[in-house]
Amino acid sequence: MTSLRVLAVANQKGGVGKTTTAINLGTALAAIGQKVLILDLDPQGNASTGVGVAEEARPITSFDVLAGKATISKAATKTLVPNLSIVPANADLVGLESALMSQPNRNFRLRDAVTAMLAEQKARPADVPYSYVLIDCLKHTIDQIKATLNPALEIQGVVLTMHDARTALSKEVAADVRAFFGPMVYETMIPRNVRVAEAPSAGKPIMLYDYDCPGSQAYIKLATEIIERERRLRAA
Ligand code: ADP
Ligand code: MG
Repeated sequence: MTSLRVLAVANQKGGVGKTTTAINLGTALAAIGQKVLILDLDPQGNASTGVGVAEEARPITSFDVLAGKATISKAATKTLVPNLSIVPANADLVGLESALMSQPNRNFRLRDAVTAMLAEQKARPADVPYSYVLIDCLKHTIDQIKATLNPALEIQGVVLTMHDARTALSKEVAADVRAFFGPMVYETMIPRNVRVAEAPSAGKPIMLYDYDCPGSQAYIKLATEIIERERRLRAA
């Protein structure tokens, strides 16, 4: 059994493609043989909708996990993608802060839940059959995530999203990001592609919505790059 990797899809900005990446990278990783769990932490539940888990089909949510009422593996539900599960989210999350107001350690609920899942996988691998957990979304700086999730958290890689090769601005941004982050930046850039934006309203990841479109192919390429990098990290 390969060890479980926890990747947070993070950026301090909204609207930059985090949820889209969680959905489509998760699907692409599953398609190339990984067992993937997405943790939807957005009260809008867009990642849940995007993998075909309707609002009525979310009996246990990430709210229950963060409130300490359910474990991650109990809350996980299957999606329409084979080998891809999700802990769905709904608007309950909006009330989380007030629900936990009086509780100590409320900032560490996510860390505790993930730690418990890792321990559970060690003890009962069959019950927690995941190789990747993708967390969407932490609209905080890396430092905040580090503090609440795991002090040992590291940047696994940087993904350029919504890239538009026709615009000078996009090219400039890509060049700047590569100059700053160097080899951390994946070669694969996710292109701005209208099919990618359409897919969620069909309740489907892009690979199921339009396999041949540039966005689909880019997420598949990104997934293989991530697996490659993981291999190298493990070998090092
Ligand atoms: P975030 O989770 O960072 O707030 P989203 O993933 O929800 O961002 O993306 C914001 C908007 O941009 C959504 O409407 C989404 O469909 C669209 N979008 C994301 N990635 C792409 C892309 N590669 N091409 C076109 N539209 C995209
Ligand atoms: Mg989002």
